[in-house]
Amino acid sequence: MRLVLLGPPGAGKGTQAVVLSNNLHIPHISTGDIFREAKESGSELGKKLAEYMEQGVLVPDDIVNRIVIERLSKDDIKEKGFILDGYPRTRQQAEVLDNALEGLELRLDMVIYMKTSKKTILMRLTGRRICKRCGHIYHIKNIPPKKEGICDCCNGELYQREDDKEQTVLKRLEVYQEQTQELIDYYKQKRLLKTVSGDLEVRQLYDVIYEFFGKKGLL
Ligand code: AMP
Repeated sequence: MRLVLLGPPGAGKGTQAVVLSNNLHIPHISTGDIFREAKESGSELGKKLAEYMEQGVLVPDDIVNRIVIERLSKDDIKEKGFILDGYPRTRQQAEVLDNALEGLELRLDMVIYMKTSKKTILMRLTGRRICKRCGHIYHIKNIPPKKEGICDCCNGELYQREDDKEQTVLKRLEVYQEQTQELIDYYKQKRLLKTVSGDLEVRQLYDVIYEFFGKKGLL
């Protein structure tokens, strides 16, 4: 299956992508995760990426496109498909993706748009905490760790992503509205778009998405 998850930051794209990827054995490609790994590595590219991310603005298209195309060219993609999470985010990226897929003789099966209210987004992102050691994700109200600030799984220290602080979240939402929202029409015109509510609980949303796959004969 070849899938794009579209929606504002905080819609739960990453959460759904991980569950879908594990259950259906489809590679998960998250540009945000790739960039955070590069940042952690301390490389020159990582340092440059961190500057964009910490301001809540988009990384330039040429850098993002190069990284995604490289990943899509690997052997597992032809065989197993992919779940793109956080890419494309601009019309230029969407066009580059179309061309790259054409070159690989592949096409998208579905684009899932996770429409989400601002209230949910702010609540989810500003309350999100991540384990420094194992990457497990918590929420201070919805999924709190047993001991404040400490990971239940590995005792690692929990931290808040720099770009999950309220001012940066507001900036990310503004950027989303300016640059990513137009992709909804782009994919609607291509008759690939399915809209779901990103306000739903993880399990409920998963069930809705799974039903779409069944109806489209993708399972
Ligand atoms: P995310 O985890 O998807 O919210 O991504 C975190 C940050 O990485 C974003 O705020 C952007 O700075 C950057 N980023 C991720 N994906 C893209 C993309 N497709 N295009 C440009 N910047 C991106």
